[in-house]
Amino acid sequence: MIDTHCHLNIDPLLGRIEEVLDAAAELGVTQLIVVGIDLATSEIAIRLAEDYSQIYAAVGIHPNDCTKAPDNWEKHLLDMLGHARVVAVGETGLDYYWDEAPPDLQKIFFRDHLDLAMATGKPAIIHNRDADQDIVQQVLEHGNTRGVFHCWPAGWDIAKPLLEKGYHISFTGTVTFKSNLPVQDVASRMPLERLMLETDSPFLTPVPHRGKKPNEPKYILHIADKIAALRDTSVKIIDETTSQTARQFFGI
Ligand SMILES: [Zn+2]
Repeated sequence: MIDTHCHLNIDPLLGRIEEVLDAAAELGVTQLIVVGIDLATSEIAIRLAEDYSQIYAAVGIHPNDCTKAPDNWEKHLLDMLGHARVVAVGETGLDYYWDEAPPDLQKIFFRDHLDLAMATGKPAIIHNRDADQDIVQQVLEHGNTRGVFHCWPAGWDIAKPLLEKGYHISFTGTVTFKSNLPVQDVASRMPLERLMLETDSPFLTPVPHRGKKPNEPKYILHIADKIAALRDTSVKIIDETTSQTARQFFGI
């Protein structure tokens, strides 16, 4: 299986990377995309991808971090995107929950990231928290069609136009949370070949380990289980199809 979005580049997972990778490998998680949230963590993601053959890197500035980015951040990202083991631009997007940066600034950074994705031919990894309407508007207005909405947070009305534009959707442990019906609805009815799995560890530990910190890539099995149940199919089908999708999507 492939964990398409995890943060082994930050603590507490970075400090015990070997143990975390071994535990994941034991359960069949053999490839991982480590995602940057600023320039420093993007650099660490690349270093990890150089050190461990199962790791690939994504580089980007998280919407909550864009006020702290240096003026020449785009040049830095473009350089990093030339690295052979960097497979995506991100994470980028809009986050109106934490209120760390003005929406207009977040939108500029988001569009610039989508530009970088188009210019380099690498897909974008997109974060959306409490910004459903604006994210749909930004994506529909932009020419980029290759990207994944990570940690899917919304219902079918938001998913539909994004899927029609060509985007993928990935699910974290939040799909296992009992009351999360709109997200479960999207997981059950969207085309399986556009669906991917991720842990977003160290955050969002899935049921039955919910509340336990930190989350780890090894727990991706619980997300696969839940999606198999929602779609009334086998975990094997979910594993095989989502892994094939991820390999194709990230070119790994
Ligand atoms: Zn993330």
